[in-house]
Amino acid sequence: MMNTFKLYGNRRGFSATMIIIFLAVGLTACDQEEVTIPGLYAFTDVTVLPMHTEVVLENHTVVVRNDRIFAVGPTDRVEIPDGAHIIDGAGRYLMPGLAEMHGHIPGPDDPQYAKDMLFLYISNGVTTVRNMAGHAYHLELVERINNGEIPGPYVIAATNWTSPGNVPGPEEAREAVHEFYEAGFDLIKIGNLRGDAYEALADEAHEVGIPFAGHIPEEIGLRRALEVRQASIDHLDRYVEFMAEGHPDAADRSPGFFGSGVVDLIDEGRMREAIELTIEAGTWNVPTLSLVEHLASPEAPEEMIRRPEMCYMPRGVLKHWVESKHNYQARDDFQPEAAQRLVEVRRDLLKAMHEHNAPIALGSDAPQFFNVPGFSIHHEMEMMVAAGLTPFDVLVTGTRNPAVYLETPDAFGTVEEGRRADLILLEANPLADIAAVRERAGVMVRGEWWPEDRIQEQLEIIADR
Ligand SMILES: [Zn+2]
Repeated sequence: MMNTFKLYGNRRGFSATMIIIFLAVGLTACDQEEVTIPGLYAFTDVTVLPMHTEVVLENHTVVVRNDRIFAVGPTDRVEIPDGAHIIDGAGRYLMPGLAEMHGHIPGPDDPQYAKDMLFLYISNGVTTVRNMAGHAYHLELVERINNGEIPGPYVIAATNWTSPGNVPGPEEAREAVHEFYEAGFDLIKIGNLRGDAYEALADEAHEVGIPFAGHIPEEIGLRRALEVRQASIDHLDRYVEFMAEGHPDAADRSPGFFGSGVVDLIDEGRMREAIELTIEAGTWNVPTLSLVEHLASPEAPEEMIRRPEMCYMPRGVLKHWVESKHNYQARDDFQPEAAQRLVEVRRDLLKAMHEHNAPIALGSDAPQFFNVPGFSIHHEMEMMVAAGLTPFDVLVTGTRNPAVYLETPDAFGTVEEGRRADLILLEANPLADIAAVRERAGVMVRGEWWPEDRIQEQLEIIADR
């Protein structure tokens, strides 16, 4: 009896202790949010900038399940699912992730460098990158990003730069189109091809069903590239030459860097015609204002590499940028006045394109010439605002438009149910000031949440390499 009693007594004592331990563990787990269900998030009391129209939705809740936006609605009408990881959105703004539609991901020589650049994109809220100079290695990399092995944006993979070196004539062009398509690339990057090679490539690409985009070969010119429906023109290539071509002196001059050699000969009246042809062709423009402005500006390159974001780039790259700017400005055909005129004309052209509803997608050309991946998209957006677009117009080019360009308007680029969960949580309203896109509270990349403190930790590691 005594033994039994004692045993019971012990067991009761044991149970009470265990209950207290369980309670304590349970409470601690709640505090640390360890009981949340992976992949289930709720942004609460947040102001949503959905970006499908210029509305601002206050006091909203956005629920994310796995890689998708599951629900968007007023806080009193959206039920927060049990086990959701709560992200406090009070006083904050939630917008779709941005796209860099003319980005570059480094090649296979230094895989760590490539991974770091991918992180720089997402750290800045760039959740989609159209990689504009590809390599077979990128197709592998895309798979590893999509598996969740490497943090990175959604990547649209272009082929390597086509040129007379790798695609000398029409026959090679037709073969190359098939090779690129079979390898799994999403688009063909156009470089300065010979006219006949470009024509054959365009024809075969339409046949096979793979878009081609990028530069316009000198022998082809703007009108012909539009006639054959190039998918996008990057850097506003050949527009200045088009506007200058009626001038009797134009034929005797070299067009120089993006038309800077003939910019004093342009007839701005032809801008309207260029834009009409662009709209008729359905061709997109990815302006990359910052590419040209960074090279053409009077700012010393030694000053430019002191910008805070430069600490994330390898020293060798910075050195190369400094040399490139010096070399460019030392060229015989570089005239500071012409370079400034080029900057003005490009801004006017962008504004006119926007006013006539020509399709525009955001891109800065990173990492080229002082464009640090991710960070450069902020400079580009600020330049677009300086050109006369509103912050909302600029954000459309980086959110909704890239999805339309890809002919998948429902896939991403707006904060709506069913879209990919690519989101940026901001401390201030970017519609009031585009610079607010830099004031992040965190970034969500296909449903993976990166609060700002975690982003900064990772950035420090990259800065220390
Ligand atoms: Zn580029």
